[in-house]
Amino acid sequence: MQQGRSYLMEKRRKGKRMNNIPERNNNPQELNKLVKVMLELALDDIRSQGVNPLVVETYRPQERQNYLYCQGRTIAECTAKGISSSFAKAYCNPNGGKKPTKTLNSVHTARKAVDVVPQRIVNKKMTAIWNVNDPHTQIIIKTMQKYGFEAGANWDNFVDSPHFQVKGDFTAVFDAKHTTPYVTKAIQTALNERKCNNLTVDGKWGPATTEAVNVFRKCQGYKTALGQIGSEALNALFAK
Ligand SMILES: [Zn+2]
Repeated sequence: MQQGRSYLMEKRRKGKRMNNIPERNNNPQELNKLVKVMLELALDDIRSQGVNPLVVETYRPQERQNYLYCQGRTIAECTAKGISSSFAKAYCNPNGGKKPTKTLNSVHTARKAVDVVPQRIVNKKMTAIWNVNDPHTQIIIKTMQKYGFEAGANWDNFVDSPHFQVKGDFTAVFDAKHTTPYVTKAIQTALNERKCNNLTVDGKWGPATTEAVNVFRKCQGYKTALGQIGSEALNALFAK
C-alpha cells in the first residue's frame, strides 16, 4: 500500500526535480541471471493459476535507492547515513508520507530483488492491487517462495508485501557455498518431486543435497557432477 502511494507521489513530482534520478526499471533482463530464471519460472506458474502478475521494479541503481531513502526522512537523517548534503537538500521530503524503503543497501541494487503485485480489471480498468491480504497477492507470495524467493511480506519489522529477494553470495551457479536457505529449500523440494532423492527440506545444503543435485544432473545428461545448479539446470529442475 505505502509503495503504491509513493510511486504515485513520484509521478507527480517528476519533471520538477527528478531530472537526474534514474526512473523505475521493471525489466527482468536487468536481473542477475539466476534470479531472472527464477522470476520467469515463477511468473509462468502464477499465470497458470489465473493470476496476472505485474512486475513493478527489478534493478535499482544506487542513486535511485538514495532518492527513495530520502522520501519521508529529514536532511539530517539522510546525511547521517552518508548521502551528500546537496542530494539530501534536493530530494528529502520528510512530510511527504511514509518511508518507501528502510535501507540504503537494497538487494534491488545487487540485481537480486523484484517487486511483483497482481493486476486485474476493476471498474473496467486494469488496476494494480497493493494489498497483502488480497487472494491474488497470496498466490504470488506462495509461488515466488516455491521458486526460492524470500518474501518481504513475511518480515516482522518492516512488511514489504510486493518485495521478493534472493539475498546471497552467488553469481552464475547455486551450490553448497553459494545459495540462500530459501533457494536451498526450493531446490530440495524440486529434487524430491523429481524423485532424485528423499531429502529433508531444511534449507541447509549438505552432502546429501549435493549428491541429489548430481543424480539430477546425470538424469539430464550433464557429464559434469559438480553439485552445482546453473541457469539451464534450474530451468530443467523446475520445468513442468
Ligand atoms: Zn522491493
